[in-house]
Amino acid sequence: MQFDREDSSDDSPIALAIDLGGTWVRAALVTRAGLIAWRGRAPTGSQDPGDVIVGRVNDLIDEALSGEAAEQVAGIGIAVASPVDPKTGIMYAPPNLMNLDGVSFKKIWSDKGRWPVITGNDATLAALGEYTYGAGMGSKTLVYITQSTGIGGGIVADGRLVEGAYGMAGEIGHMCIDASGPLCKCGHRGCLESYASGTAIAEAARSLAQTRNDSVLASMVDGDLGNLTSEHVFQAARRGDQVSRDLLDRVSQAMGVGLVNVLHLFNPDTIVMGGGVSQNWDYLRPMVEEYLQGNAMEHIRKLGYRIVVTSLGDDIGLLGAAAMVWAHSEGSP
Ligand SMILES: [Zn+2]
Repeated sequence: MQFDREDSSDDSPIALAIDLGGTWVRAALVTRAGLIAWRGRAPTGSQDPGDVIVGRVNDLIDEALSGEAAEQVAGIGIAVASPVDPKTGIMYAPPNLMNLDGVSFKKIWSDKGRWPVITGNDATLAALGEYTYGAGMGSKTLVYITQSTGIGGGIVADGRLVEGAYGMAGEIGHMCIDASGPLCKCGHRGCLESYASGTAIAEAARSLAQTRNDSVLASMVDGDLGNLTSEHVFQAARRGDQVSRDLLDRVSQAMGVGLVNVLHLFNPDTIVMGGGVSQNWDYLRPMVEEYLQGNAMEHIRKLGYRIVVTSLGDDIGLLGAAAMVWAHSEGSP
């Protein structure tokens, strides 16, 4: 396989990064500087048999490792949209890829014996990607929060990725905001995710649009409420729709409670917001900041923190996986 040598100067080592998601598995060869010298992808699907998806992932890795690139690959980093044991690489009930429950790409590729293989949850590794290549460069302790279909997160403390004893650290979406709140899919009540994820915002909007004739929400989708998304809610709120503004006030309040907990638990100097909903962070930010200023401990407020939006876009999982390869090869995490 050919790849652009201008981006991978001479024979310097390169990381093979894999980002396994519910729609696509993506691969990239990434330089130490974070430049992507080659990329490829293959579809994944929740209905596809596990062995079919495993075959596609393996074919993609084979393609990436073919030819001259194989000699330069320092390791394989695999980010997966699943709870995963970093030691064994075994995925536990991937929510959008249930047929991969119990599969370990780490085992499959470690058994070939040629490259070190590192596996981690995609949001957890994204924190390391932001710390190494993104908006979190230069920070000491960083918390990454992805506000998307669900809410996930990752933590880098003093330069080290916090994985937890079994790889489950950083489940920020399942912090309790209100113990008597709505039932979350995780089995607990009142999780941040059940108030502030894109899914939760869209569901709340559908419910409001059915009863609130004073809102433009229903007309935005020609009455087909199943098409309402969180993006519609932000658009309506920006146009002055009071029902949407009130809904987003509640979302901001929930995010404020969640971020106060994050500040108190980790004392980060940087919080990076990612995921689709974060594209509207400019709308949420003033209310969240106001909550933080009113509720975070005085010294945490005075010593300061910054909240920034991710700069890595769709490559965040790949760059996080690559950062993990470099971190392991240099012995830091
Ligand atoms: Zn939950």
